[in-house]
Amino acid sequence: MRDRERLVEVRDLRMRYGATDVLDGVSFGVRRGEVVCLLGANGAGKTTTIEILEGFRARSAGEVSVLGADPATAGDRWRAGLGIVLQSWRDHARWSPRALLAHLGDYYRPYSTPDRSRPYDVDELLAMVGLDGLATRKIGTLSGGQRRRLDVAIGIVGRPELLILDEPTAGFDPEARRDFHDLVHRLTDLEDTTVLLTTHDLAEAEKLADRILILSGGRIVADGSADQLARDLGREAQIRWSLDGTHYVHAAEDATAFVRQLLAEHGDAVGDLEVRRATLEDTYLAMVHRDESTPSGAGEGERPLEVVA
Ligand code: ATP
Repeated sequence: MRDRERLVEVRDLRMRYGATDVLDGVSFGVRRGEVVCLLGANGAGKTTTIEILEGFRARSAGEVSVLGADPATAGDRWRAGLGIVLQSWRDHARWSPRALLAHLGDYYRPYSTPDRSRPYDVDELLAMVGLDGLATRKIGTLSGGQRRRLDVAIGIVGRPELLILDEPTAGFDPEARRDFHDLVHRLTDLEDTTVLLTTHDLAEAEKLADRILILSGGRIVADGSADQLARDLGREAQIRWSLDGTHYVHAAEDATAFVRQLLAEHGDAVGDLEVRRATLEDTYLAMVHRDESTPSGAGEGERPLEVVA
């Protein structure tokens, strides 16, 4: 029976290429309605993982369930519930976006249900991904970012329950990126779509993800919200200020208490006050390099910074 809560369940997933174990016991789940970002360095195994979830790659070992079925053996009805945006897909150069989306959409029509009418109306979909002005252009003449918008439209044309995207915003300009983020929010808030994506853009992960997974050394080394990961790592906030022309920085767990004390001691003489919490980038780099790093001495007192002009 389909598990309503866990749309993806991965246990002890292993993938070996030749003599190399790229995935060495990966376990995680994705619950209905979540946006989950899978992060990891180049070659960490993100594409391998999601291609196994999509049924495009056969795993070496482990248990995988997606939308209640094993992707290695699931059939067409299962596939109709899944939306996929691959890292790159170059095809149908002479077709127009409208013709291609209408064609692909027809595949999903038999899988329409009372709660989920399939496929999307093509013009609505083109507007959703910002391609309404390019509906009849030849696909081969689209720019990289426009092509990527089309890839996203292809991924959602069947109104998927679960949408899996591999670096969907690679090549997007800032506006396209923001539009994509709005689209993900619309899909999760209004369309009851669950989203699993990979990205190298940590600001994007921080903005979109309910939960972040970090893949490193063939395993999931972190699983939680950006805030939880920072807390688990004991990341302190950084406080910067200037006093009599000298700039200082200090790391503290309780930034509010530190600032209160600083102002109590120095009052109006304190300038340029800034409190900076750990970003996901700080946390990510710390987690991926945890074994290699040496203690920095942060938190052992304030130290003067190079004087900023
Ligand atoms: P990126 O961020 O660069 O897209 P990734 O995390 O998606 O990387 P994968 O594409 O999953 O990484 O690749 C993981 C490792 O497996 C890499 O070292 C890659 O060279 C290797 N690999 C991937 N596919 C194959 C294959 N078919 N045969 C042999 N090795 C492979």
